[in-house]
Amino acid sequence: MRPAGDEATTVRAGSPGSHLSPDGIEDWIVEAIGLVKTYAAGEGEPNVPALRGVDFRVRRGEMVAIMGPSGCGKTTLLNCLAGIDAIDGGDVLINGTSLSRMDDATLTRYRATSMGFVFQSFNLLPVLTAVENVEFPLLLTGAPPAEARQRARDALRDVDLSDREAHRPSRLSGGQQQRVAVARAIVASPAIVWADEPTGNLDSVSAGQLMGLLRELNRTRGQTFLVVTHAREVGLQCDRIVHMKDGLILNEEITGALGPDSSASTVAVRHSGSGI
Ligand code: ADP
Ligand code: MG
Repeated sequence: MRPAGDEATTVRAGSPGSHLSPDGIEDWIVEAIGLVKTYAAGEGEPNVPALRGVDFRVRRGEMVAIMGPSGCGKTTLLNCLAGIDAIDGGDVLINGTSLSRMDDATLTRYRATSMGFVFQSFNLLPVLTAVENVEFPLLLTGAPPAEARQRARDALRDVDLSDREAHRPSRLSGGQQQRVAVARAIVASPAIVWADEPTGNLDSVSAGQLMGLLRELNRTRGQTFLVVTHAREVGLQCDRIVHMKDGLILNEEITGALGPDSSASTVAVRHSGSGI
């Protein structure tokens, strides 16, 4: 599906970001339409509205940062887009297919083959070596062990860790552990990689290296990256920064990270949903 022309929600039509699609055809890989997510509270407490009607789109091959204060809904948005959290209103389309139309088994399989995940805390299995951690998701989806091993080695090479294949996480630095986690995220060649505060536990040098790596993977493999971050310097390495506040998207910035022909600017985004 290639929806187009709905001026009410197509915030970037004619905007500085439109050079991303020189042929004029917008190729959305992720579309959130009027996304609502409310967490049920404990007895006697008010429910928590985490997303209050979010319209958000990502082009295929784009690298987008989501920024905003703690508690504004960044992780919730990412989890809803990835089909990890169920939504209470609106819709999420990945490659034009609504997640709500997939049953649990289809969604789980879809996540395993089309999506990669990187977390702030690395989430490596401590008893497995680097290469075993990276091949693990392939083995879970039934890949033959020899093939899984080879692909894991290739992915570790892509994150420049070939010489650490046999190391357990405890013998790797934080930056190296996160690169193993990136290798694990890309090993199945997913179309989309979601990264939630991927540099949050890294020193600034390792954070810079990691972002350089993500940027390179994005460019060379054409994979779409969505990066939640607190750090402006991380956001500035992405094509676009989407700013959130109180469960809504406030505005977005085109960063100029793409090259000299792209101009930095802030684009006001129409608020949707009720109450704002
Ligand atoms: P961010 O990632 O921007 O810090 P979150 O998406 O984690 O924000 O949280 C958004 C809001 O939803 C916050 O008010 C948070 O307290 C609340 N929230 C997040 N997860 C849960 C949960 N599992 N149960 C109840 N409330 C939650
Ligand atoms: Mg978060």
